[in-house]
Amino acid sequence: MSPQFAAVHTMADATALAGRALALATEIFPIGRSITGQGVRETLRCIGNRVPLEVSEVPSGTPVFDWEVPPEWNVREAYIADGAGRRLVDFRRHALHLVGYSIPVRARMTLNELRPHLHTLPQTPDWIPYRTSYYSKAWGFCLAESELATWPDGEYEVVIDAELKPGHLTYAECLIRGAVEQEILVYTHTCHPALANDNASGMAVATVLAEEALKSRPNLSYRFIFGPGTIGSITWLARNESRLPAVRGGLTIGLLGDVGPLTYKRSRRGTTEIDLIAAQAVRELDPNAKLLDFSPYGYDERQFCSPGINLPMGRLTRSANGAYPEYHTSADNLSLLRADALAQSILAIATTLNRIDGNRLFRNRSPKGEPRLGRRGLFRATGGTNPGDFEHAMLWLLSLSDGAHGLRDAQAVSGLDMDVLERAATALIEAGLLEEVAG
Ligand code: ZN
Repeated sequence: MSPQFAAVHTMADATALAGRALALATEIFPIGRSITGQGVRETLRCIGNRVPLEVSEVPSGTPVFDWEVPPEWNVREAYIADGAGRRLVDFRRHALHLVGYSIPVRARMTLNELRPHLHTLPQTPDWIPYRTSYYSKAWGFCLAESELATWPDGEYEVVIDAELKPGHLTYAECLIRGAVEQEILVYTHTCHPALANDNASGMAVATVLAEEALKSRPNLSYRFIFGPGTIGSITWLARNESRLPAVRGGLTIGLLGDVGPLTYKRSRRGTTEIDLIAAQAVRELDPNAKLLDFSPYGYDERQFCSPGINLPMGRLTRSANGAYPEYHTSADNLSLLRADALAQSILAIATTLNRIDGNRLFRNRSPKGEPRLGRRGLFRATGGTNPGDFEHAMLWLLSLSDGAHGLRDAQAVSGLDMDVLERAATALIEAGLLEEVAG
């Protein structure tokens, strides 16, 4: 068996994994998660039942770049009851009902006093919105507009029995050691409660891919990181700066089960190995695939691609964040996850990582101007005719070979057959123009 990331090469392979991903997504979907707290730990236990995890607990107040780890938030119960004591909204019935990081409250108030703390979606009156207030002390409830419309004036009892106090931020890593230490990172956020596509799908797909990679014998090492959005990736980066030179590339993943097309968002650097190879993979698998340039808005790619970090990390999703109607509402539920969409997403990620795992990287030994190929008998003597595939293959390899690109990159951008590229690489190496570099 030659080295590979995982034995996932066909839609049939990926469909089997999609079934397992769907089962895990169903298990973790309802958990009341946030950027810290017991919900995250419970989720990581479900994931840890499938793959070995190293869990890190970072104390509140720990400085992480320009941020600090926030207090830990846990909820015992939260509800609004009417005058008769009937609970109209209850956190236990749906984790979206409570604004994330709500401060504790115990009060009686009129509907008018309560209203500024209630969030609904009048355009889609049956959906519950997802709202958070991580960094300003506030509280609130989220509910369906159609529900709120039935509430009479009168007095309501509001209870948020929550704790917001020094504790920990929890993240977990699953490391699959390959033949070399160079690493590929896969980051998925773990902080959303009761939302299926964003982000149960990301956690579930990352888990089943890690399970497959554990059965494989990869060349590179793979580090799957399960952490909260923004503060989680910032915390991981701040604690792992010394590790970053060994990072060959990576992906932020999420939103993997909806009907939208496969979407690859390029790293800030734009033309790194992962950018070229992931773009090729999504285009091959989905004729409607979308390619996006980097922008400083979105998921954790913002942190991995911040200028002082600048890792070759892109983002793979189906619909982008905010780009489907159910996004950040109770309608982003398990019915939105399609097995065929999950399978295609799984295959796109596995194809990308398998190609990187087997990629041979080169350095052009004569990189200033084009080397004279004719003098070395590598280019036809008569000018004026179009070069053939072999000549094009040499030009692509010479152009791309900066030590961080290789055969697969050349294949992705040129569309030439691998055997032509391999022959061209051999010829260039024999002529002393190209050298292979360790991955
Ligand atoms: Zn989100």
